[in-house]
Formats: sequence, C-alpha cells, structure tokens
Amino acid sequence: MVRVEKASRIKDLPPYLFAAIDKMKAEQVAKGVDIIDLSIGDPDMPTPPNIIARMKKGIEDQKNHQYPSYEGMIEFRESVANWYQKRFNVDLDPGEEVLSLIGSKEGIAHISLAFVNSGDIVLVPDPAYPVYSIGAKFAGGEPYFMPLLKENRFLVDLKKIPDDVAKRAKLLFVNYPNNPTAAVADREFFAELIEFAGKHNIIICHDAPYTEMYYDDNIPISFLEIEGAKEVGIEFHSLSKTYNMTGWRIGFAVGNSTVLDGLGQIKTNVDSGLFQAIQEAGVEALEGDQSSVEEMRRIYQRRRDTLVTGLLEIGLKVESPKATFYVWVEVPKGYTSAAFSAHILNKAGIVTTPGNGFGEAGEGYIRMALTMPEHRIAEAMERLKKTGF
Ligand SMILES: *Cc1c(COP(=O)(O)O)cnc(C)c1O
Repeated sequence: MVRVEKASRIKDLPPYLFAAIDKMKAEQVAKGVDIIDLSIGDPDMPTPPNIIARMKKGIEDQKNHQYPSYEGMIEFRESVANWYQKRFNVDLDPGEEVLSLIGSKEGIAHISLAFVNSGDIVLVPDPAYPVYSIGAKFAGGEPYFMPLLKENRFLVDLKKIPDDVAKRAKLLFVNYPNNPTAAVADREFFAELIEFAGKHNIIICHDAPYTEMYYDDNIPISFLEIEGAKEVGIEFHSLSKTYNMTGWRIGFAVGNSTVLDGLGQIKTNVDSGLFQAIQEAGVEALEGDQSSVEEMRRIYQRRRDTLVTGLLEIGLKVESPKATFYVWVEVPKGYTSAAFSAHILNKAGIVTTPGNGFGEAGEGYIRMALTMPEHRIAEAMERLKKTGF
C-alpha cells in the first residue's frame, strides 16, 4: 500500500466555504423539507432545439470522430468573429484572434500557466469566481485581491493597487457583468483598465460569460470595444449561460494574438481540443435563430422582478440587477453572511450562497440566483415574509 500524499498545491487550497451550507441543506432535505434552491449558477432551462438538432447531425458525421484541431475548427472561430462583429462591432481575425475552449473555465484555469512564473502576482477581484485565484496559485503565482465595494459600484478601484504590487503583477482578472455582485462596467472603467495595463505591463483577462443576460435595454459592452484593448489583453466568453449549454463545455477566448498563442501552447500540451460536433452545434448557436436568447431574457427579467420586489417588501436592501442571473443582497443588521444564509435555510427552506464564500469582501451579502421558476421564487418570498429576521 503506497502512502498517498497530496501535493501542497491542492492540500493548501482554501477550505470549501460552502460545505456548511451543503450540510445544512442535506439535513433539511432528510427532514422532508420542500427546499427552494436559489444557490445554483446553472440555467434551469433546456438547450434550444435548433442547437440540439445540429449536434445530432454532427454526431453522425465520421469526420467528427477523430481528434479535432487544437485551436478549434476554423468554421467555429469564424462564427465567433462574425458574432463579435455583429454584437460588439469588434473586428477579429478568426485565424489568430479566436481560440476555442472546453468551456471558458478551462481557459481561465490554464492562462496563468502560460504567463505566470513562481512569485509573480496575479490581480484578482474579491468577491469572485474562485478559478481566477486558484489557477494563479496552481501556476506558482500569488493572488492579490482587489475588493469590489458598493461605494465603487463593485468596480475594481485601480488607484488602490500599490505601485510595488502592480510592478510585480503579470495578469489581472476582471469580470463584468459580474458574478456574484451583478455589477456592470462602463466604457470609462475599461478605458482606465487599459491605461493601467499599459503603464504597468499587465495582461488583462476579462471574463465575460454574462454579456447576453441583461435587462431593460442595459446592453453590456465588450472590453474589446474600447480602443487599445487588443494590445493589452483577451476576453473569455462562453456559450454556457447564453444558450443553456453548461453541460456541453464550449467557450472561447478572443483578443491579443500573442496572449492567445501562449494559452494555446499550454492547451496543445494538456488537451486535444473540443469535440467537433459540439463546435458545429456552437456555430448553430451563434449564427442560428436568436429568439431563444430573447425569450431567456424575458423569463429571467420576470423572475428578477418577482424576487427583487419581494425582497424590498420584506425590508431587505437590494439593487435590481441590470445583468446576470444573480441578485446580490445585503444581509440585515446583526447577521453575518453565513448566519443569514443559515437562518433562511433552516427557517424557510431557502438555499442561498453566503457572499464570503466568494472572498472576504463578499462578507455582508448573500447571492440569490434566478435559476428557479417564477412561482418558486414567489413561494420563497412568501416564506421569507412569514419568517422575518
Ligand atoms: C459560469 C461562469 C464561467 C464558466 O463558464 P463555462 O464556460 O461553463 O466554463 C466563467 N466565469 C464566470 C464568472 C461564471 O459565472
């Protein structure tokens, strides 16, 4: 029997902060409580039928049964370039400025391996999707957390980053529309970011899976729309949230060709590309009928309005999100994130995500996701009214 010892790289990972909530949820389920789970960051609706039909055809085609190309089929990369042109008025060379990914998480996790040496700093927002800092650590880098605060509209405050930190930084991650705060960035913010990157020689990685999930005509912009963006970085994108395709694993990165080349070099050494039938389905997603995306926005918007109206009636502090399927709710006085999340789980059967699970600066908030039918969200609000706090 060998003595199995994990590498410090995984042994030293921060503890899984949602474990306590998972355990409490399991206890409620065991008691037979009718749980309403508002913690899930995964669309509850099916992939649109035109995409599924294209996939079925692609599976039958023998040329798709072999290894795909590393950087992605040119047809898929052309669709991405066409979509960026149509949606953002951004020109991309599909040969050099688009890279297919096995879901955007794959690229986000790997990018630090391409550019970060041991001891380099990687600038990461807090609260945030955990993969930014974990990918940085796997590469031997040191995450430096940039707090997202309400008084700054949950935008990164670049002026607060000390010069000596900026000097040692190799990469900077940002994510707008934002998970978990639902904040949206404007042109001024991206312009500042580009200037900061140029001044300190830092590669910008903008994670943008929620640009199509917006409400009330607040149409989010791409980082690449701003002058100079392509000189300093890349944008990660995904079909997961827009087309209800989280299980399919298809995303892409676009922008600076040298940065994409580095990420591609890592990928050629660890994976062998993305199943071509899925890429063909991706072409259909990006170029086919977009009415399902409009319908998705209408559904989430109704859910959002039901949730936000309910929360405000109960007296909780919340801003109605302009984008994403998340609602970032301030916890009432006297509670921590974990305590409030536990309170509404144990007393009302509602599962939420404590904000501090996304980083220290998320303390004082819980995240609710709009991934439940409207009548269940309404039911959750009725229960909360009765429960109080
Ligand atoms: C869902 C999500 C992703 C990952 O999407 P995949 O393409 O499915 O890997 C990346 N970033 C954020 C912030 C997300 O919420």
